[in-house]
Amino acid sequence: MSVTDAAQGRTGTTRSWTVPDALRRADPLVADLLSAEAERRTDSLQLLAGENVASPAVLAALAGPLVDKYAEGYPGRRHHTGCAPADTVELLAVDRARQLFSAPHANVQPRSGTSAMLSAYAALLRPGDVVLAMSLEHGGHLSAGSRANFSGRWFEFVGYGVREDDGLIDLDQVRELALRHRPKAIIAGGISYPRHMDWAAFRRIADEVDAYLIASAAQTIGLVAAGAAPSPVPYADVTVAVTHKLLRGPRGGLLLCTAELADRVDRAVFPFSQGGAAMNEVAAKAVALAEAATPEYTAYIGRAVAGARSLAAALTAAGARLLTHGTDTHLVTADVSPLGLSGLDAERRCAAAGLMLGKCALPFDPAPPTETSGIRLGTGAAAAQGMAEPELAEVGALIGTLLRDGPDPRIGARVRELARAFAGRG
Ligand SMILES: *Cc1c(COP(=O)(O)O)cnc(C)c1O
Repeated sequence: MSVTDAAQGRTGTTRSWTVPDALRRADPLVADLLSAEAERRTDSLQLLAGENVASPAVLAALAGPLVDKYAEGYPGRRHHTGCAPADTVELLAVDRARQLFSAPHANVQPRSGTSAMLSAYAALLRPGDVVLAMSLEHGGHLSAGSRANFSGRWFEFVGYGVREDDGLIDLDQVRELALRHRPKAIIAGGISYPRHMDWAAFRRIADEVDAYLIASAAQTIGLVAAGAAPSPVPYADVTVAVTHKLLRGPRGGLLLCTAELADRVDRAVFPFSQGGAAMNEVAAKAVALAEAATPEYTAYIGRAVAGARSLAAALTAAGARLLTHGTDTHLVTADVSPLGLSGLDAERRCAAAGLMLGKCALPFDPAPPTETSGIRLGTGAAAAQGMAEPELAEVGALIGTLLRDGPDPRIGARVRELARAFAGRG
């Protein structure tokens, strides 16, 4: 069976995006740019850790009539009239989130992961409070303490990190820092940590110092939905997630919390940090949350995780050094300095061959942040388009050969062939 047959067997038909007539007529310039983006996607493989391919049903909901609706507030308590369908859509999304994650309460209104973080802080903290979080250099997100972000400006962040020898979170250090700095909140999780989180251990440390526990689960919430990673929900006071990464939903944030904190979290979203919610996004979140409860989604997550493992093995075989020596998730973070390359060199060389992955500063990275020594990859988008272990092992081998032996036009040609064969939305 050819690659194309395999892809079509898994994803139905291969499709690329066609510009709707209304857009073509009204704005040919934007229409052309969107066509160029669709073409770029068809000709290259998307391996950026935070990217995915939204499902066709999610796209349809995003473009639906709720794009026009103003619905400030919450169902039954809106500031605008005419909210009956919008109310039911939001209740449905909240209900599906609660069920999927066994969460006492959910808020589906945050416009992004960063604004969901802002709301989590607003619910639990006051400006000037001490927060213990994974340091940015070791994989923390900018919304967890960057000086350029509200978080680092308004709160006193103390950073924990990973161990230099095995790349794992140093829980002894987390506890020591918690006892020394007495934070009001501890944030567990980050953007590039490829291993399962020990949420229970973080909870014990938080309890010991009477701190809130915020789970930063944007990258892993899709694994949790499929039962492929331990859930933070039973342990965290507030879980912060997004729907546009592994959940294959619209760009947007998601907050889960205890019943006790429900009102505070809701008020921290609206009216504290947002006005009217994007109700088309809320509708698309409802769709994505229903899709994430299906056996097809569980199979998809299985492909993403198995694919990441085989991709990681191929990179190791080529001479890259894996952070934490492997992965439990869809994420792979690798040091490419043993191959004589910077992260930026690797990113550029791969992009030229149609392999879209990201340079990534590693813990203890001696290289400047603009260059870095690492690359980070995720298998979410590729698996959503139907790729599984054999294809992702091949992709890993292509990347490995490219990084080890230098550019080769045959690699670019093979990548394009794979990308076109798997260009559909699963
Ligand atoms: C992706 C991510 C975010 C931010 O999401 P945005 O929607 O880009 O604001 C926050 N925290 C973590 C850990 C993430 O991985």
